[in-house]
Amino acid sequence: MPAATGADALSLADPYTIGTKYWHELDDGRIQCDVCPRNCRLREGQRGLCFVRGRIGDQIVLASYGRSSGFCVDPVEKKPLNHFLPGTPVLSFGTAGCNLACRFCQNWDISKSREIDTLSGEAAPDTLAQAASKLECSSIAFTYNDPTIFLEYAVDAAQACKELGIKTIAVSAGYINAEPRAEFYSHMDAANIDLKAFTEDFYQKIAFSKLGTVLDTLKYLRHETDVWLEITTLLIPGYNDSNSELAEMCAWIAEHLGDEVPLHFSAFHPDFKMRDVPATPPATLSRARRIAIDHGLKYVYTGNVHDTDGGTTHCGGCGKPVVVRDWYVLKEYRIDGTGHCEHCGARIPGVYSGPAGTWGPKRRPVRLGTPRVRTGDHDRRNATATKE
Ligand code: SF4
Repeated sequence: MPAATGADALSLADPYTIGTKYWHELDDGRIQCDVCPRNCRLREGQRGLCFVRGRIGDQIVLASYGRSSGFCVDPVEKKPLNHFLPGTPVLSFGTAGCNLACRFCQNWDISKSREIDTLSGEAAPDTLAQAASKLECSSIAFTYNDPTIFLEYAVDAAQACKELGIKTIAVSAGYINAEPRAEFYSHMDAANIDLKAFTEDFYQKIAFSKLGTVLDTLKYLRHETDVWLEITTLLIPGYNDSNSELAEMCAWIAEHLGDEVPLHFSAFHPDFKMRDVPATPPATLSRARRIAIDHGLKYVYTGNVHDTDGGTTHCGGCGKPVVVRDWYVLKEYRIDGTGHCEHCGARIPGVYSGPAGTWGPKRRPVRLGTPRVRTGDHDRRNATATKE
């Protein structure tokens, strides 16, 4: 892998580049990044597969600290999270790059970007937190691309949000090594993890990664943290949607994570390197949902489609509908402020705080004002959140 040159060259003089700690030196002079199982081994000036981490001198740096590919306020159901502060608005953002290389990527313009211009928005952690507060968002979501690769930025932003009472959501593929995983998720309140398929073959050939690591992350989140966990599987016709694979996946979830982890099946649209594959028919989503329910999973949803049945939460106690959704719209809501069924009083798994939010399906792009102020070691920018 050649060292980057010109506009791609790494430099500690760049205000968005910071030192990191998850790496070690190898005997052959290279330095290995230890954030994700790619374990990129880098010589001077080289970037890792994710593009935003690379080597300068005797360390691995992150070159996208405080820069974003854009900001948007949208409903928490869009992450998707159906059991986490329903109906509330979330300030969503991402950076550039990714540590996977999925052929079907639905965000490839961001995740595969090697253009620094993609990072059009500037926001130091304090700026993000203040913007989320000003915009009356309950949470901030690290999404659009995988926050694993900008861990230090996400952790600092999460800490700033916590100080203002704003919760944090990670949307991730779960492809991360154990030590950084523990640090990262200690700062998160909720996570939606992509379970892209249930075969190593798919992960190796289509996503260029490993299923086993993702399953480890799911078990870790469910059993060793208080992070609220939901799972999403994008169904790609002919690739990961067979009855047998879905049955195997749902059986594994029921056995290893329990029957209360919400599972979302979402629809693929032709994109990136898989434009020759047709979009997912709604019937496939319904079939997958039926398989999951037959395997005992209690909270199974269809996504990216109008499907009231597939968007409805039924109480695990009395079986009655407690949340009826149409895409991101809450049509009916029968959960009390502490997360119990208004029909029978049974606890509905999730995180609840008072009545449901009323944000609805709106998607509102946001521009953050960015007059830059240097206050010592860290670059700080005064925030002015404005709605476009
Ligand atoms: S985080 Fe990036 S540089 Fe580090 S191992 Fe993963 S892909 Fe490579």
